[in-house]
This record gives sequence, structure tokens and C-alpha cells, in this order.
Amino acid sequence: MAKKNKKEITLDLSSDWGLAPAPESTSHIKLKKKYDLFIGGKFVKPKSGKYFDTINPATEEVLAQIAEADDKDVDLAVKSARKAYDNVWSKLSGKERGKYIYRIARLIQERAREFSVIESLDGGKTIRESRDIDIPLAAAHFFYHAGWADKLEYAFPNRKPEALGVVGQITPWNFPMLMIAWKIAPALATGNTVVLKPAETTSLTALKLAELFQDAGLPDGVVNIVTGHGTTGSHIVNHPDVNKVAFTGSTGVGKIIMKAIAGTNKKSTMELGGKAANIIMEDAPLDQAVEGVINGIFFNQGHVCCAGSRLYIQESVYPIVMRKLKDRMQALVVGDPMDKNTDIGAINSKKQLDTIKNYIKLGKAEGAEMYQPKCNLPKKGYWVPPTLFTNVAQSSTIAKEEIFGPVLAIQTFRTIDEVINKANNTPYGLSAGVWSDKGSKVFNLTSQMKAGVVWANTYNKFDPTSPFGGYKESGHGREGGMQGLEAYLKFD
Ligand code: NAD
Repeated sequence: MAKKNKKEITLDLSSDWGLAPAPESTSHIKLKKKYDLFIGGKFVKPKSGKYFDTINPATEEVLAQIAEADDKDVDLAVKSARKAYDNVWSKLSGKERGKYIYRIARLIQERAREFSVIESLDGGKTIRESRDIDIPLAAAHFFYHAGWADKLEYAFPNRKPEALGVVGQITPWNFPMLMIAWKIAPALATGNTVVLKPAETTSLTALKLAELFQDAGLPDGVVNIVTGHGTTGSHIVNHPDVNKVAFTGSTGVGKIIMKAIAGTNKKSTMELGGKAANIIMEDAPLDQAVEGVINGIFFNQGHVCCAGSRLYIQESVYPIVMRKLKDRMQALVVGDPMDKNTDIGAINSKKQLDTIKNYIKLGKAEGAEMYQPKCNLPKKGYWVPPTLFTNVAQSSTIAKEEIFGPVLAIQTFRTIDEVINKANNTPYGLSAGVWSDKGSKVFNLTSQMKAGVVWANTYNKFDPTSPFGGYKESGHGREGGMQGLEAYLKFD
């Protein structure tokens, strides 16, 4: 009898914490085998006739084929956006535009489960993140901007705000749906029409969004979605009838785009890379700070532009913070993104996996000391365990360059001046974090950090009302808030 009971309550001890698998179901999603381009409100075959595979990075299985748009396809998309701008969208009142945007927001909420599952399958991020962060925030961005559509003259009194016309938008793979929402919602609220290119490894939620636009009855051509690689993006950037380029991606590609549009009339916003410093002062609530550090760098496999990838710990609390950090890392569950217990999912692509592995190799070769907790990585797919480095010099490559993976470079400091110098000594300026119990210290540090967003006693918090963006090589322009609206308008 005792034996039988034992068998009945046996859990699958696949992780050290003995959590039973809790996989999210995929039975409710419908994916086509092949996705065409979304131009003029319809799915149309690419003139190039070419398609490429999109894969699940956790299993390496092909999910669908995606159309590759060439210059002729992009030209058709821009023409369709121009026609929709001239004939329909620019003639609608803000109140009418707002109704469409509300409808889109509500439909995203209704289909949140479908979008979350597809996002995790296509991108490798954990279902917990896509379900609790990416998709709800994407809906929130549409809701927020729907509210602005009929209030632009109050947002910018006596300035006569006017739409720019056709905007070209290019997005990365780390928050596919959210980055698209950050771009499309303000563009529509301000009266522009759109040609969007999602990242090549994560096109599926963009194409699902195209289906949702059809269901919402959005007028044809107001949003056009052209899929493809970097060359497709460059056709948008170089098209003469695009009035603005809104880009989120790497600093390297941002520089290429800025060179391409130099001397033209095109407006731009550039949301580029980062190398954020997270600073723990000796009086900080240490457990909370350690949780914030974990969230700051291991959230979304470190595929976060504002990831707290450099950690500065005040010397007096270094031993205790390190012990807590390593203990916490040991408890992180790495594996199947579709399991609700998973903390760290799959790396987005083989290319990104190789980049991260090279940085880890370089970190060791340059003399830093590596720590990775024990974890069983799946045999198939792209995985990196949470990794930290100590003995890091300010000049180490892993402390200077954006890795875009779950790799943390740790240094110590003694005085406030020292840490401000170290934290600001980077070409980037996107975000930073400060942990201290003392308000005056927090204000002193945050006011001296050269970063677009500085979090105090928290990390990675986003809200549509709050402008986001960087300076220096992290780009220019803001997304979110009134500043984000302004970037899609011209004034008399
Ligand atoms: P990436 O620059 O390689 O690609 C981004 C997008 O640009 C993709 O859609 C890609 O196809 C396209 N592209 C590539 N070459 C192009 C070209 N020559 N012309 C036009 N388009 C081109 O970046 P990624 O690897 O997809 O994303 C990671 C980067 O994005 C990181 O550097 C990260 O910090 C940054 N990022 C920044 C923010 C922010 O808000 N600042 C947010 C998310 C990601």
C-alpha cells in the first residue's frame, strides 16, 4: 500500500526544485504554413517569389514560411500607405481614428492567449513574460494612444499638430509585438499611415496582427506589413516617399540608417543598443536589489536593450550580495519557454547563441572569473545558462560591449564619485538602476547618471505614459508619453 501511494505522488523531478511541468497549451492557435505580405489590407504574394523559414528556437522546428519582400514589394507597400493617407486616414477626425485604435486594443486583449503563445513559440521567450508583459503592454499602448487621437491640439496647444504622412518602421526580435505596438499605435493616433518590417526571426505576431487589423475593419493600406531581412528594411529606409523612419535595433544598423537618410527630409527616431549599469549601495535592501538584478539581466534571456548587464556593488556588501546572487541564480529554471515555471527560455537564434558564446569565451580569455549555476539544458534548441563574471576590469570587452544575452559583468566600488564615473564611462546611454534606502542618495545618483531611463529600487518597469529612449549611441527620440506622440507630428 505504502509503495502504491509513493508511486501516485511521485513528481517529475526534472529540475532541482522538483516542479511538475506546467506547459501552456498550443491547441488554440492557428498558424498557416506560408505567410504572404500584408499590403493594401490583403495578403499578397511577394514579387520576389521568395520565402524563408521561421523556426522555434527551443526545438529548431520550422513553424511557417515567411515572404521575403524586395524593392518592388516595398514600393507597392509605400504606394498603398500613401493612397490610404491621402484618400482616407488624413480625412478622418481624431475621434474616428481613435475608435479604430480602441478596437485594435480590445481585440488584442481578447486574443491575448493566442498572441502570447505564438510570441513564445517564435521568439523563445518564456510564456510567463509574453503572457504577463509583452501582450498586455502591447494592448495598453493601443489603449493609451487611442485616448490621444482626438486630443492632439490639447497636448500641443497653439502649435497646430499635423501628421507627417507615410512612416517606415523597422523592429527587432526581442519584444516583437511590443515594439510593433510602440511604433504603430502613436503613428495611427497622430494620423500617419505605416509600412512596417518586423525582425526576420519573429515575424509571426506581426502577421497575426495584420489578420487582427482586417477583423478590426482598419481601412485598407493604413498599415502595411512587409517581411524580410535587412535588405527589405533598407528598401523602406531608402524609399523616396517615406516621411519618417522609426527604427529599433542595434547601434550598428542605426548608424547605417542615419547615413542613408542624411541630407533627405526624412525625420527619424532611433531606439538603439545599451549597456546599463545597475548600482547596489551598501544601505540598499539587499534581497530586493538581488531580485532586481536577476530581473534586470536574466529577464527575457538578457535580450533586453535596457538589460542591467553591468553590476556595480559597494565593496562593504560585496560578499553578501554575491552569496545571495549565486543562491538565487541556482534556483532559476532554464528550459522550455512554454512551461509556466520557466524563468529563462531559449536564445532567439543560432546567430545570437554564437555571439553570446563568443563573449563568454572572451570574458574568460581576458581574465574574468565565470560562474554558471548547475542546470540541465535541453538537447535541442539554443540555450545559455545564466552567467556572471567577477574580476572584471572597466576595460574588459564584456563590460564595454552589448552582449544581448544572460551575461552579467560585476565590479565593485568604494565611493559615489567612483561609481558614477564607472557607470557613465560607456558610449551608450539608455538606462540605469540604483538601489539604496536613502532618498537623498537615490536623487544624487539618478540625477548624475547619463541615461534616458533611470530606475530606483526597481528595474525593467515600462508604461505607455512614460517616454522611453536613450542618448549618446543609444539613439535619439522617445517612444511613449507625449514626447512619443510629438515624434510623429510636424508643427506650423
Ligand atoms: P538589428 O539591428 O540587427 O535588426 C533590427 C531590425 O533592423 C531587423 O528588423 C532587421 O532586419 C533590420 N535591419 C537589419 N539591417 C538593416 C539595414 N541595413 N537597413 C534597415 N533595416 C535593417 O537588431 P536586432 O538584433 O534585431 O535587435 C537587437 C538590438 O536592438 C540590440 O542592440 C538592442 O539593444 C536593440 N533594441 C533597442 C531598443 C530600444 O528601445 N532602444 C529596444 C529593443 C531592442
